[in-house]
Amino acid sequence: MIFPKLVPWDVWKHSGHAKGVYPEIYYVCPPKTRDPAFWEEVIDNYKVTLEVPIDLIAEKIDKPLGGMCYAQCPSFWPFMQGKTVSDESFPVKVFDRSGTSHRYESGGIHGMERVDEFHRIELLFIGTQEQVLEHSKQMQECYKHVFNDILDLEWRMAWVTPWFMAQEGLTGLAGQTGVGTIDFEAPLPYRGKDGEWLEFQNLSVNGDKYPKGFNVKLQSGKDVWSGCSGIGLERWASTFFAQKGFEPNDWPDAFREKVGEMPKGIKFM
Ligand code: ATP
Ligand code: ZN
Ligand code: MG
Repeated sequence: MIFPKLVPWDVWKHSGHAKGVYPEIYYVCPPKTRDPAFWEEVIDNYKVTLEVPIDLIAEKIDKPLGGMCYAQCPSFWPFMQGKTVSDESFPVKVFDRSGTSHRYESGGIHGMERVDEFHRIELLFIGTQEQVLEHSKQMQECYKHVFNDILDLEWRMAWVTPWFMAQEGLTGLAGQTGVGTIDFEAPLPYRGKDGEWLEFQNLSVNGDKYPKGFNVKLQSGKDVWSGCSGIGLERWASTFFAQKGFEPNDWPDAFREKVGEMPKGIKFM
């Protein structure tokens, strides 16, 4: 699927992000009007000064209608909102790698591993409690295979409190065993022996949080659960290059087989 990447407030109200996402989002403001006459002043100002008159622009744009994609999967849910899904359609598995995510990292940008615009593959799975827990297990096995047998990384899994529990002060959803987030982390050799490990992706079982928030039901009446996994491609690349270097001859064989011959880059004078 292609998830929308401009997120209106209504989606973040249902997903729970409206409770605290504000310091990190890039806000989206529409023009107050599309009338060219209204914008003439700005256009003329630029033509004369060759500076973009941002104070003038600030007067001519409206209040934010939402923000740029922050967590990727919330935008999927309006597709199912208010629906009852037939038993035979479960489990639902969705794949989206259509876009960028944007976060205001407040200048805390180092290299590729922390940027204000990044690319993430988002995998989303919806089903009964058993189906969601089973799928999460399968994905963990697949990730193990990729990290051990193909990328040959040093890595670990860390069980962390999911964002929405941290935000809402919950330590666990009552009666929902298995709800939580796994961070996949890797050491970056250039940070030194005791350097902080980098979270390069995660995998969450979110219990009934999203189906409840967006009012999704199942034909049989059983509780609907969901989970998602965010694969940060800049983080994967940072981890891989930091551990394996830039020289293709040093890369693991299984990875080189998949990559094939790298095209020559552009040579700058
Ligand atoms: P961190 O604690 O490092 O800021 P986070 O907890 O904010 O990470 P999540 O909200 O779990 O990250 O985001 C899911 C995934 O998106 C991360 O595992 C990572 O791969 C990626 N990601 C998040 N922020 C960035 C960023 N600024 N630059 C590149 N990738 C990012
Ligand atoms: Zn998600
Ligand atoms: Mg962060």
